[in-house]
Amino acid sequence: MASEDRVLLVDDQPMMGEVVKRILGAAGGIELRVVSRPQDALAAAREFLPTVILQDIEMPGMNGFELLDAYRADADLADVPVLMLTSVENAESKAKAFELGATDYMVKFPEAVEMVARVRRHSLMRRQALARVQRAADAERARNPLGFVREPLPQCDIAIIGGGFSGLMSAVRIAAAAPGASLSVFERRSRPGPGVAYGACDGEHLLNVPAARMGAFAEKPTAFHEWLEREFPGRYGASDFAPRAQFGRYLLETVQGSLGASSVKPRFVSDAVVHLERHAFGFELLLASGRTVLARGVVLAVGLPQARAPWRGVGGDALAAIPRKLLVDDPWEAGALEGIPADETVVVVGSGLTAVDVVLGLRRRGHRGKLVLVSRNGRFPLPHAAAHGAPPALDPAELSRGPKEAFRLVRRTVRELAAHDHEWHGAIDGVRPHATKVWQAWSTEQRAYFLRRLRPYWEIHRHRVPPRLLALLDAERAAGTLDLIAGSIGGIAPVAGAEAIDVTVKGARGATQTIRAARVVNCVGPAMSVVDTVDPLLGSLFRSGMASSDALGLGLRSDAEGRLLDAQGVPQPGMRLVGALRRGELWESTAVPELRVQAAVAAESLARELGVASAAPAGSA
Ligand SMILES: Cc1cc2nc3c(=O)[nH]c(=O)nc-3n(C[C@H](O)[C@H](O)[C@H](O)COP(=O)(O)OP(=O)(O)OC[C@H]3O[C@@H](n4cnc5c(N)ncnc54)[C@H](O)[C@@H]3O)c2cc1C
Repeated sequence: MASEDRVLLVDDQPMMGEVVKRILGAAGGIELRVVSRPQDALAAAREFLPTVILQDIEMPGMNGFELLDAYRADADLADVPVLMLTSVENAESKAKAFELGATDYMVKFPEAVEMVARVRRHSLMRRQALARVQRAADAERARNPLGFVREPLPQCDIAIIGGGFSGLMSAVRIAAAAPGASLSVFERRSRPGPGVAYGACDGEHLLNVPAARMGAFAEKPTAFHEWLEREFPGRYGASDFAPRAQFGRYLLETVQGSLGASSVKPRFVSDAVVHLERHAFGFELLLASGRTVLARGVVLAVGLPQARAPWRGVGGDALAAIPRKLLVDDPWEAGALEGIPADETVVVVGSGLTAVDVVLGLRRRGHRGKLVLVSRNGRFPLPHAAAHGAPPALDPAELSRGPKEAFRLVRRTVRELAAHDHEWHGAIDGVRPHATKVWQAWSTEQRAYFLRRLRPYWEIHRHRVPPRLLALLDAERAAGTLDLIAGSIGGIAPVAGAEAIDVTVKGARGATQTIRAARVVNCVGPAMSVVDTVDPLLGSLFRSGMASSDALGLGLRSDAEGRLLDAQGVPQPGMRLVGALRRGELWESTAVPELRVQAAVAAESLARELGVASAAPAGSA
């Protein structure tokens, strides 16, 4: 059995090894290993696991100070007691040894009894420390049988959950409002970044909001266009739809610039928050890795949960037999569309903005195979107008009467525009400034009617694409390289001996066809309802009653400052909601022009509530 006291002696003089062996051997119960080359000491220590290291200072190749430095930088050896055993007796040398982390210092040669006493004492302390760690690990195993690592992170004033536009701009706003606050941003993707919309896209993925309205700060909506002008002089007009990737760059530069100039240095944690609990301190966040973190306040900026992939409900047992990579749950996941055989068919479920992006992205990557799009309405989004003037002023009182009245007003406006040779777009754009007020004026029944009957029309008119991109899709349809089917996925089955799937498509009129595809890509977008969500964090907020969904299940209830309302409708102290999950209350809660305002209001009000706001008014752009 190994001795409890294990000493590693590092000394280049063989005679020293003999003397120490005699002294410790006489004491009994101490196992000794001797290393004469200091360069071998680290490896020997890692293998022997000493409870004490005894070592000389003056040695060829590597002196005792350098060795000390190396132990202290090594995670496994950093806490092992190191006793210097040397003939160097001056005070400077002793001071330097202690400064570098030596535990004790003996001048050659102390009385045998003293040396044994020192070695035993330091060895005992090391063993006791190891036993404490072991006891804590045993207790943790008992408490946490699944083996989650629950290593605590430093606590912070404010935890921002979500590292997309809303989370990053909340961080910037908090940093401006509360220069003394400590801040952590949690993002479940591998790195915080510009978010789904502006991160995983190439140069041809375009914004659907004109450049001059995409500034990250409400105080300066034109800032993005000005940035484009600096980067690409003359290339983009104020009303152009610039590449989303450029907006991603602008956003990161803006965030870096703002935080770089601030005293707040947020900590970015690449981990998903899966559970949130009220705590005496504020909140305890449980991360997917099993770690926990304490925060006084929380900003929830998680975007919308992804809708369940359409094949999940119809795949049955076949799902398990289909290789994972053939079913693309999230086309924005890094590498999701890589490795598709270039001549094979791909089925895309959905025909909205995400589907358009995926189709064009596949073609740019050189995909030659047929693309089959399947969506309930079988329609692409409508094109932006080439150009139209300021939208007509629509009467908000008439719009607020109800969705049927609003629909009538919009149709009337479209006719009036047509009479003056203008396209329909102005009628939709005339509604948008009033959308939130109108939505809030409608009763729950009126909102439900809108969702049931009018939403599909609203969506294709409101979320438009540049005409140039639609022309590409139309050309593909005409050439027979792209099909758009109105229908749904009725089933999927693996293909024996091939990396392919048989996809059964049920047409809107009941006809069924089977398409053999190399991939099926989910482009149905976010879930329409959060009520049955499988998102662990949202589920946990509902279960604990910290959050409640709006009457139609579109999102979470919150007040004007973004304070989350609990199951009783009471504002939750210390919590703010920013982003599309506010759509149940606001309807328009999707695009940068809305989110930048929400981030500012939520951040400033949370900083005030937690008492971390600076006395001076917060800076902004
Ligand atoms: C394809 C596409 C194109 C768009 N184009 C435009 C446009 O041109 N103009 C415009 O204004 N808007 C556009 N939008 C809308 C866009 O969603 C918003 O502008 C904005 O990017 C939303 O940011 P967000 O931070 O609220 O949400 P997201 O970008 O969805 O970010 C939320 C983040 O939270 C993370 N997260 C979620 N749950 C957790 C958790 N439990 N723990 C840790 N992290 C979590 C997610 O991984 C995600 O990164 C587009 C959206 C899409 C999808």
